Amino acid sequence: MRGSLLIFLDASAATVLKYAYRKMFVLLLAIICAAAAAPSGAVDLWRGMETLHFAVYYRPGQQALAERAAADAESALAKIAPRLWGYPKGRIPVYVYHNRKEFIADTGIPGRELVVGVAYSAGELMRIDGSRYFAEISPVIAHELTHILLYKRMGSRILSVPVWLNEGLAVMLSGTAELPSALILQQAASTGSLLSMKSLQSSFPSGSLSDLAYAQSRSFVEYLSEQPSKLLRTLDAIAEGSSPEEAFRKVYGKSIEELELAWRQSLAAKRGLDWLGLAGTIGVGVLMLFGLYMAYRGVLLRKRRIIEEWEEEQSESQTAV
Ligand SMILES: [Zn+2]
Repeated sequence: MRGSLLIFLDASAATVLKYAYRKMFVLLLAIICAAAAAPSGAVDLWRGMETLHFAVYYRPGQQALAERAAADAESALAKIAPRLWGYPKGRIPVYVYHNRKEFIADTGIPGRELVVGVAYSAGELMRIDGSRYFAEISPVIAHELTHILLYKRMGSRILSVPVWLNEGLAVMLSGTAELPSALILQQAASTGSLLSMKSLQSSFPSGSLSDLAYAQSRSFVEYLSEQPSKLLRTLDAIAEGSSPEEAFRKVYGKSIEELELAWRQSLAAKRGLDWLGLAGTIGVGVLMLFGLYMAYRGVLLRKRRIIEEWEEEQSESQTAV
């Protein structure tokens, strides 16, 4: 909190104090949350603006970025809230960073990781990398927002929600491009290298398997959402004290493992249909798939190049210091 300035450009004099307290509370929670990682002085000089459902914090001079983030957050909420439990009470704090270095310093994530957003259950706030080094901000906000809405509904029971369910919902509801995820999934399914959902219950793998973990979680959650109310009822049951296993049995009448097996079979059936379709359009279909694969490969290579460039810049600036 060293050197913190509580300046709120869009707040009336009467509300400054109210938000100053709220801001202090939020900052305190953020500091507790990232205590080990946040360097001193990393949380000073924030400005704030509000929309109906969000309190957006940004660095001086970055109001345009904050306004964009606020608009993205409101439009994401309008799409996601009706698919979960409706609009939340109160405003959700969003910290937008125009500088990736500051984002990394405040969140404590390793620089090499491609993390572009963090949602904290303590304080129900999110931190967003608005530098756009790796991603546009709107899908990132939508993704983190889904986590926050889940935190709000589940309270301390969020710890019982399987990671694959939490992440799968976030990827599905944020409307992230489906194609790369579908290609990763199909490749793993056809080579028998899908991960077990049990292995994704309490954490996700890092490195190249992380993309597969997200792709699988999305696909499994989409499968479970064929009747959306069922998934919400399952989460409600977990919120009320059931274990995930009991909750799925209660609502779907099957164990998680049985549901996973059915989902894997549905993937295999889909693959069979894909091949039939291909047989009907030999040539064009194969070329299209090849083109899609090359496009996906291009995305991967670009990602890798960006990381390398970013790391080079980092080491240059560190040597300069
Ligand atoms: Zn996530």
